Amino acid sequence: MPEGLIVKALSGYYYVRPDGQQMTEVVQCRARGIFKKRGESPLVGDRVLFSMTDNGEGTVEEIKPRSSSLIRPPIANVGLVLLTFSVLEPDFNLQLLDKFLVHIEHAGLEVVIVLTKWDLLEDAAKQDEVEASAALYRSIGYPVVITSSKQKSGYEALFELLSHEISVFAGQSGVGKSSLLNTMIPGAMLETNMISHRLGRGKHTTRHVELLELPRGGYIADTPGFSQLDFLELGVEQLSDCFREFKALSEQCKFRGCTHTHEPGCQVKEALEAGDIAASRYEHYALFLEEMKEKKRRY
Ligand code: GDP
Ligand code: ZN
Repeated sequence: MPEGLIVKALSGYYYVRPDGQQMTEVVQCRARGIFKKRGESPLVGDRVLFSMTDNGEGTVEEIKPRSSSLIRPPIANVGLVLLTFSVLEPDFNLQLLDKFLVHIEHAGLEVVIVLTKWDLLEDAAKQDEVEASAALYRSIGYPVVITSSKQKSGYEALFELLSHEISVFAGQSGVGKSSLLNTMIPGAMLETNMISHRLGRGKHTTRHVELLELPRGGYIADTPGFSQLDFLELGVEQLSDCFREFKALSEQCKFRGCTHTHEPGCQVKEALEAGDIAASRYEHYALFLEEMKEKKRRY
């Protein structure tokens, strides 16, 4: 039975891109009734087995096990998040960057930090500041790519990083995600903006997600994910593991369950004092910890 990838779901149909060279067209499929009975439904990003029916359509017969599933937008098997921030308009916000990173780490996804609108940064001192931040995140282990959609620069480095994966954009609105996608895949448009422009509605309309094929392999979703960022599902004790460079250290803290705030023998604080952990990272950790405790008190 042929295998393929669901690249779009619309009005009860699933559009499956078959693997291999034999079938070249996307096949419009219905799902077998059994899925509904079981309370599951195929998702964009699912790898599926399908059969062909007489009328040239197909039937999704089986869904392969998922490595992940995002709720908003609903996509299975996302491997990589393109976490996008502009260097200006709006200003590069390290606190929000760290907050996104916590959520992405918690979801167990890989991430590339994409900085946009480099052309707007004319001031050399500001350029140095952004370069220093990029170096910090690279040293923690996150790839950082600097782009300008206006100058059409930087985006090609992304193609290599994104091949063989399903990727999704994340980031505030206005940072240049749609522009970058259009630069990477001319003619593509992030679905959110298309809807809000055409119908004049806000960004909360129901969205259709579609996976777009990238020139050097891999797929990218035309709808950004991770729009809502609160810490409701995250336990206080899980927070420090979501700061990559804290993780190995916190296993060596003197006390189990060390919160890295007031405890003696804390390796994270020692690393902070030695300059091995950036002050901004620690500050945001402490801030998020307080935020989470505050939430816990209220719920
Ligand atoms: P999104 O909401 O993240 O999808 O952001 P958009 O792609 O819609 O971009 C928001 C605004 O930033 C638009 O006015 C774009 O023209 C502008 N913009 C996007 N990328 C760049 C860039 O690289 N340089 C400059 N100067 N402006 C950009
Ligand atoms: Zn500690």
